[in-house]
Amino acid sequence: MIRIGVLALQGAVQEHVIATRRAFDSLGIKGEVTRVKLPRNLEHVDALIIPGGESTVIGRLAERSGLLERIRERATDQNLAIMGTCAGMVLLAKEVDERHVGEVSQPLLRLMDISVTRNAFGRQKESFETFLEIPVIGPEPFRAVFIRAPAVKRILSNKVEVLAKLGEVPVAVRQENMLALSFHPELTDDLRLHKYFIEMTTGV
Ligand code: GLN
Repeated sequence: MIRIGVLALQGAVQEHVIATRRAFDSLGIKGEVTRVKLPRNLEHVDALIIPGGESTVIGRLAERSGLLERIRERATDQNLAIMGTCAGMVLLAKEVDERHVGEVSQPLLRLMDISVTRNAFGRQKESFETFLEIPVIGPEPFRAVFIRAPAVKRILSNKVEVLAKLGEVPVAVRQENMLALSFHPELTDDLRLHKYFIEMTTGV
């Protein structure tokens, strides 16, 4: 039995809960999806999804309860698998800036060796959909929904593997058992990235 927690402080929580349950069903794996709001909710999960939303809000709430520190500890000491989507990518990054204001200061996990720009695609392109080539999940392009999305500006170590790019910009990256996506896989019916994450968690 695999337990995946969805960080449930703010943002697109329910959509990830549903997509992850469907991904378990489709893989024929027995799994449970729980909501993580407090540090103690983290104790029984094998993996964590950090949803999209507002990274400043999610980061501050998680810091206040001690959850941010606990996630960081579990990821470094016990290899907790993490998938961060959109704001979740921001929270996983070692360094963050913002397209319009430049330098920003906000609580981060700093677990992945990436430097991320928030709202990287600018005002004209606040939200858009596009098809991405993501070879690790198969040849068929993935319909990706971007909403005030971040992007990877710089890769800071050779532990980071780029799984997909939009033009020249990395929008899906993996570092060991952590996955950061600029877009929202929970908003489409394509379960391939949730399945990929579950397989990462189980070491398939
Ligand atoms: N722009 C938001 C941030 O920087 C992310 C948007 C999203 O998660 N859809 O936190």
